[in-house]
Amino acid sequence: MTPIQSPRLKYFIQCDEVRHDGGKFSAIGIFDTIFAFVFPAVHRRFFLLLGFHGPAGQYDVELEFTDPTGRVAAKVSGQLGIPADGQTSNVVFNLEHFPLPCEGVYKITVFLDGDFLAEQEFRVQPPVPPRERTPEEIAILLTQPDIVKSANADVRCDRCQAVYRFQHLLDPNARPEAGFLPLPPGDIFKCAVCGRSLNLSQVRQSLSNIVGIPRQWLESREPETDHGGGSPPPA
Ligand SMILES: [Zn+2]
Repeated sequence: MTPIQSPRLKYFIQCDEVRHDGGKFSAIGIFDTIFAFVFPAVHRRFFLLLGFHGPAGQYDVELEFTDPTGRVAAKVSGQLGIPADGQTSNVVFNLEHFPLPCEGVYKITVFLDGDFLAEQEFRVQPPVPPRERTPEEIAILLTQPDIVKSANADVRCDRCQAVYRFQHLLDPNARPEAGFLPLPPGDIFKCAVCGRSLNLSQVRQSLSNIVGIPRQWLESREPETDHGGGSPPPA
């Protein structure tokens, strides 16, 4: 039998909480999808529990998180100690205020002593897929008091710092309240002060995710994000 040259990843668990009691680890609230209505979002807290198996020794473990645009969103490192050949040892990471700039698939690359070991991923998405509503559907929603009928977003020009206040409305015939601009058609908005082109696609998507849903869906959830195994929120 060939001896194992370096540790291997035996399991990789993403969850709400990891408890350590009596020499055993427990993973609570395992998930692979994080739900958020508005982006950029921040996920308050999650844990990663990694189990390694292999020869005795001390090893450096590094995790690199890549967001859906390919940018490195975070890096964390920890220590793996395997007391004896063939034993399994755990490394726990506690991630707090994790940045989620957009929806999509986030990759987690595991490095051991600087070498690539494994790749994992998790998904971030709105709990209800956005869709076009018919005029009839909108007319019904407008009569229901608990439906979100407008959503606002401030967009700051990154060159001149001018701030634009946009309001997106459920009723396509309604006008924004005083002090707000309607979302322009198309993704590019030209700053009236300096002429810079500002991309509104993320703002449009976030506001569209909120408008037309029951208010409780926003209020009953955690302040920033919620997650689960892929099931939609209760109607
Ligand atoms: Zn500007």
